[in-house]
Amino acid sequence: METKELAKTYAENVFTIKTMRNYLSKNAYQALMATIINRTSIDPVIADEVADAMKTWALAKGATHFTHWFQPLTGATAEKHDSFIEPDREGECIMVFSGKELIQGEPDASSFPSGGLRATFEARGYTAWDPTSPAFIKEGEQGATLCIPTVFCAYSGESLDEKTPLLKSMDVLSKQVCRLAKHFGIKTKDKRAYPTMGAEQEYFLVDREFYDTRRDLLQTGRTLFGIQPSKHQQMDDHYFGAIKPRVMAFMEDLDRRLWKLGIPAKTRHNEVCPAQFEVAPVFEELNLGIDHNMLTMEILRNTAEDHGFACLLHEKPYAGVNGSGKHNNWSVVGPDGKNWLTPGDNPHENAKFLTMICALIMAIDKHAALLRATVASAGNDHRLGANEAPPAIISIFLGEQLYDVIQHLAAGTPVTSKKNGVIEIGVSSLPHLPKDATDRNRTSPFAFTGNKFEFRAVGSSQNCSQPNTVLNTIVAEALDDICTKIESGIQKGKKFNDVLQTVLKNIVKKHKRILFDGDNYTDIWKKEAEKRGLPNLVTTPVALKAYTTRETVNLFGKYGILSERELNSRYNIYLEKYEAQIVIEAICARKIAKNLIIPAAFRYQAELAEAISMTRSVLGRINQTESKKLLTAISADLETALKTITELEKVTKTNKPARIIAVQNRLRTAIDALESRMDRNTWPLPSYTEMMFVM
Ligand code: ADP
Ligand code: MG
Repeated sequence: METKELAKTYAENVFTIKTMRNYLSKNAYQALMATIINRTSIDPVIADEVADAMKTWALAKGATHFTHWFQPLTGATAEKHDSFIEPDREGECIMVFSGKELIQGEPDASSFPSGGLRATFEARGYTAWDPTSPAFIKEGEQGATLCIPTVFCAYSGESLDEKTPLLKSMDVLSKQVCRLAKHFGIKTKDKRAYPTMGAEQEYFLVDREFYDTRRDLLQTGRTLFGIQPSKHQQMDDHYFGAIKPRVMAFMEDLDRRLWKLGIPAKTRHNEVCPAQFEVAPVFEELNLGIDHNMLTMEILRNTAEDHGFACLLHEKPYAGVNGSGKHNNWSVVGPDGKNWLTPGDNPHENAKFLTMICALIMAIDKHAALLRATVASAGNDHRLGANEAPPAIISIFLGEQLYDVIQHLAAGTPVTSKKNGVIEIGVSSLPHLPKDATDRNRTSPFAFTGNKFEFRAVGSSQNCSQPNTVLNTIVAEALDDICTKIESGIQKGKKFNDVLQTVLKNIVKKHKRILFDGDNYTDIWKKEAEKRGLPNLVTTPVALKAYTTRETVNLFGKYGILSERELNSRYNIYLEKYEAQIVIEAICARKIAKNLIIPAAFRYQAELAEAISMTRSVLGRINQTESKKLLTAISADLETALKTITELEKVTKTNKPARIIAVQNRLRTAIDALESRMDRNTWPLPSYTEMMFVM
């Protein structure tokens, strides 16, 4: 296909604004646009017309079904299809899709996690249309389905999904940004502010044949056993390396499928580890960016399958090499339509910029533990603090220049890089902040990268809603605090710039412990962070507790994001999911060891023993010390493995994750020792070398 033709397929399967204009009356189009822009609810009459237009469009694309598409607390997306078909009285059928069906659905909620909310409420759940994320068409082998992005809540109104609190947090942030904007003389009438997000998605590919014979990958998403290849990522020759033809074919197909759904895939490259890759889109408004990331993960999996691969989205598919994350790039567009995290070139813009930076410093320092909780999962526990990944300690990297500016702001001293001296908000401009100079630290979990912050602790398989819900809310709270202080200062007759100067200065003084520009991977930082009193919440069960603290309940309650009951239910769901995952892995590890590896090891042991004794019977008294050493080692490994299997079976029943993990790690050591000693041809699983290098 010519590139020109290809460009025409962009968003071909999306009910875009342009499509709406073509299919709707002027009246309905304007009403719908107003709903989208102002985020108000839609008039039922208009909804009927929109539904009809969507149906006409979808039928022309071969759709036979529609579904509400939502994000329950399972971490995945959910859909339940209904056909448009309705039998008529003459024994034939018509195609029906009403406004009511567009706006609301009633899937049975009883099998979705509710974390205890359901005990006292009905099993019914409701999905409600989110018109800010456009409807799209998923193509199947024989037809197509119209997908309508929705939120999902219980009969009682309590939210059962990841999207509802996200949308609420976006509103709350918009309100506070607009409140601040007014102080800067920016018009806010009929305007809103919104966060933007671009998620850099890392993933691994593995040949499907290997994948299908690795029960651990199939059932847990990661390898539970396996020794490192002699060469893996030591030479750094995979990162940005030439892409192999088979992978290239996959990536080309992937991009085409993403573009067709209006997902603006932009960057593709090899990552650090062999067989690891990344795809990154152009950033979008936050909720759309998240919907698109959820779809991207699904399309990654499907496309991989069509190319004879499996796509691994787990945070740590292979031990000992890099894991996969999702760099969550976040910024805010103000009611003036500008990115507020871009340092400007006049004093006015810079005051806005510095206020946002200070709000973030305050927000992250106050709620570091909560932000950490949003990325807690069994998978991410293997990644955070290992190899390349940021530690579980949350800190902010600002880059040398901005860090310098912030220090001087707090101290009220001159900035060396500037002639006219003292940083004075709203009076002087900032020293020039070159964009690329800010992005050299790849070890920080939360880094300023020129015009946005990059939250790097997010797991590769995760729905980004939680971290962003928290980010929006804590920044809104900080801005709320800043605005309240500004307003009371002004009431006392002080000048805006003076009050702002004092407020920001105090924020930096109070919260600067969260700033760290050094190497986050070192033990020195761990000690330093402890001295500063920054939380280091290493495992998921410990980290998740932040969801139920007084601070969190008050914060989410104050802004109407989630009630205490909803927070508790989420805490329970995430913890249960973690515990279930640990138990599944333990059972899976035990079965693989017992039924696949131990029998193979016994066979090899016998073969070896026989070879040694036969050699001796042919050659007589010869030196067989080393051969016998090998046999002894294998026999010892086997004993250890067998003993640990029994132990693991017992400990799994206790439901104590930390203990299960400890025993399972010992089993891995024994099994990996066997792999390192045994004949490649008798080893019953594909090796790391094959999985990482054969493609
Ligand atoms: P890198 O971080 O690897 O140097 P880029 O800086 O080009 O790469 O951006 C990476 C991601 O950040 C992309 O997905 C991009 O769309 C996103 N991004 C860029 N600007 C913004 C912004 N203002 N808000 C949110 N995301 C952004
Ligand atoms: Mg980046």
